[in-house]
Amino acid sequence: MTDVNFPDYRGALEYYCLGCNQVFSINKLHYTCPRCSGVFLLTDRSFDSLKQTPGRKWREILDARAASKNLALRGIFRFYELIAPVVEKQDIIYLGEGNTPIIPASKHLEAQTGQKLAFKNDGQNPSASFKDRGMACAFSYLKKLVRENGWDQVLTICASTGDTSASAALYGAYVGEPVKTVVILPMGKVTTQQLSQPLGSGARVIELPGVFDDCMRVVEYLADNFRVALLNSKNAWRILGQESYAFEIAQWYDWDLQGKAVFVPIGNAGNITAIMAGFLKMYELEIITALPRIFGVQSSHADPVFKYYSQDRQDRKYNPVQVQASVAQAAMIGNPVSFPRVQALAQKYEKIEGDGSFHVIQVEEQAIVEGMLLANQNGHIACTQGGECLAGMLKARESGLLNREETAILDATAHALKFSDFQDKYFSNSFSPEYEITPRQEYINLPVEVMSLEDKNRLSQEEFTKAAVKEIAGLLGLSS
Ligand SMILES: *Cc1c(COP(=O)(O)O)cnc(C)c1O
Ligand SMILES: [Zn+2]
Repeated sequence: MTDVNFPDYRGALEYYCLGCNQVFSINKLHYTCPRCSGVFLLTDRSFDSLKQTPGRKWREILDARAASKNLALRGIFRFYELIAPVVEKQDIIYLGEGNTPIIPASKHLEAQTGQKLAFKNDGQNPSASFKDRGMACAFSYLKKLVRENGWDQVLTICASTGDTSASAALYGAYVGEPVKTVVILPMGKVTTQQLSQPLGSGARVIELPGVFDDCMRVVEYLADNFRVALLNSKNAWRILGQESYAFEIAQWYDWDLQGKAVFVPIGNAGNITAIMAGFLKMYELEIITALPRIFGVQSSHADPVFKYYSQDRQDRKYNPVQVQASVAQAAMIGNPVSFPRVQALAQKYEKIEGDGSFHVIQVEEQAIVEGMLLANQNGHIACTQGGECLAGMLKARESGLLNREETAILDATAHALKFSDFQDKYFSNSFSPEYEITPRQEYINLPVEVMSLEDKNRLSQEEFTKAAVKEIAGLLGLSS
């Protein structure tokens, strides 16, 4: 049997500045516009030539690739022409990212919420968050640059709420020389598991006092003044890779997105940017004929995007906010770098599907953590940000923005295990007051101790077994 071929198409990608509308060559690594410091999107000057292939044909091509054993086409580059059609096959790095499952809500969860819903489990990526989608693209492009320029040293750097650094460290370690990875983290503001990831991958880990926004400013200063490769989502190559999330949703639902509503947590706003950009691209190529509705979700403790969109359209003003402690810690960002991208894409989106096709929902901390617990006690593996999506969906329904006929697709952006620190805090009622969370008995689950070590030591092995069985049988109400 012959496998599908690696695509022949090569695009004419360029950086397009959302601030001054200038374009710049991709032969240099840019993060922001050298003229106006605006943020970039990567656009393909040859994109219109892709329209010569009808939507039906695209769907066939992409479906054929879904069965390919060609590793270069198994991850995000299954959608090669729509992602970064400038990297060569030899540049592509694939660690098993993408292609994450869409799991319908358990019968109980659906009954409890009264909504058709499904989680897309992006925690099932290699470093256990969606960040791997963007990192696979950014590192593939970096490999191309290293190959073409013969660089003998590349220092990659990022600020992180935890998952960006885990992902950068993993991909950096896999690529190896000449790439070295440095990550900068806000001290005490990433979970134990998230800190262990870059350490385990051998990256240089630097901690700074403050929150993510403080680290981001330091990293930007470094990127402006030294030769380092910035891997935050300000890097437009990351956005391209993350568009694969949208492509996969479309493909999974047989390219029919009528009546679908996609819920995404917003932190630095890279993910929601990518998801909207992805759906818009497929729409332009007529691969899909309807756009799903988009619901961004933010905690009331970090909600600058919500605040912007909750103002009347004509007098909207953007202001960064000072964040407060949040269980959706990966999204605890007061000044999202991709805000101008969201603005531009939401406008495009609403032009096509009208008012109501894009919303930002605000939820409380209590609802976020309980959204996670509710999901996971029904057999899901949502992180706190996945819980934030569930809370956002319930809020959208309550506010009359979502109706029961729609299918909600919730982004479980990371694996539950990464955020078990917050589950522990809930179960042991040890949140500091700033979280504003009061645990409720119905959600609390703690281990039961039926015998002390001292009691065990007084017993023979046989007596211990019998005594333990007696305690457990009593506890569970078992009868022989
Ligand atoms: C990074 C991250 C977010 C926020 O995504 P942005 O692209 O920064 O908006 C949400 N959830 C998890 C688990 C993340 O790692
Ligand atoms: Zn500019």
